[in-house]
Amino acid sequence: MIGFIGLGNMGFPMANRLAAAGRELVVYDPRVEVVQQAAAFGAHGASSSRAVADRAEIVLASLPSLQASAAVAAEVTNGAKVAVFVDLSTVGSAAAQRNHATLAAGGIAALDAPVSGGVGGAQQGGLAIMVSGPRAAFDTAKALLEELGRPIFVDEKPGAAQTMKLVNNLMAATTLAATAEVMVMGVKAGLDPQVMIEVLNAGSGGTHASRDKFPKAVLPRTFDYGFATGLMVKDVRLYLDEAQTLGLPRPIADAVAGLWESTLREQGPESDFTSVVKVLEEAAGVTVGAIRRSR
Ligand code: NAD
Repeated sequence: MIGFIGLGNMGFPMANRLAAAGRELVVYDPRVEVVQQAAAFGAHGASSSRAVADRAEIVLASLPSLQASAAVAAEVTNGAKVAVFVDLSTVGSAAAQRNHATLAAGGIAALDAPVSGGVGGAQQGGLAIMVSGPRAAFDTAKALLEELGRPIFVDEKPGAAQTMKLVNNLMAATTLAATAEVMVMGVKAGLDPQVMIEVLNAGSGGTHASRDKFPKAVLPRTFDYGFATGLMVKDVRLYLDEAQTLGLPRPIADAVAGLWESTLREQGPESDFTSVVKVLEEAAGVTVGAIRRSR
């Protein structure tokens, strides 16, 4: 039996994939409606994280905050059956190290395994999964993680995968913010946004933002890519903290963080992170949207 805790934008499609691959699942989320939806793909519902850890040998979690991750790790530590706990959440290396210590005290091997690839990657089994923790626990969980994407072992040192994830997400935060800024500039100057995206993607300025996020969620004005602004800001702040702890200058990250903090203030934590462009659009008085002229 496999446990899954946290059935949100990422956790729900991941649990769904595991069930589709034939895994027997026991799941928990405080939102009763998503536990009921998971029953539709055959998952057993549990009433708490502890109850999941009483029934499953390997427990996975995908949680929205450091607090939720710590609370779940503490509950899982008391589980009767669990041997390996895999936290797929992004919490930063310091929090991951604390969770590893909590779980180790209860005799449970902890892997921090943050993921990249978004909701689409979760649905299609195409996630990059960065893993750190005991190698033997990785070997135990590897086949399971391969059903979700590509597990890459980073280091045995707890939290190393979190550092890698923050590096990845600062790049994603930067390219989305930079793409938003140049798109607004081009549109203000009279360029067609559809043509701009086509040229960026054919040339050297293309990024994941221009290839995927803008065509899917900005140009059609749906702003439904599936990652909340509040979570993006969490990751940017965690990156700033870790860089500061290392005593490093961070000129790019500081500039990018300023725009993300404005997005949080103006669009709210629940807004989709593609809403970052709206902050720049409002200041410029333009919209990066539908095709404006025929070609
Ligand atoms: P989400 O807010 O959509 O889902 C989180 C789920 O956890 C919710 O269903 C919530 O009810 C549940 N939850 C909250 N507190 C809980 C608790 N104490 N016990 C059990 N369940 C609890 O978040 P998400 O977008 O799915 O992201 C989850 C994690 O994955 C975050 O750490 C995020 O940074 C990371 N992540 C997200 C994406 C993405 O594209 N959405 C991509 C990569 C990584």
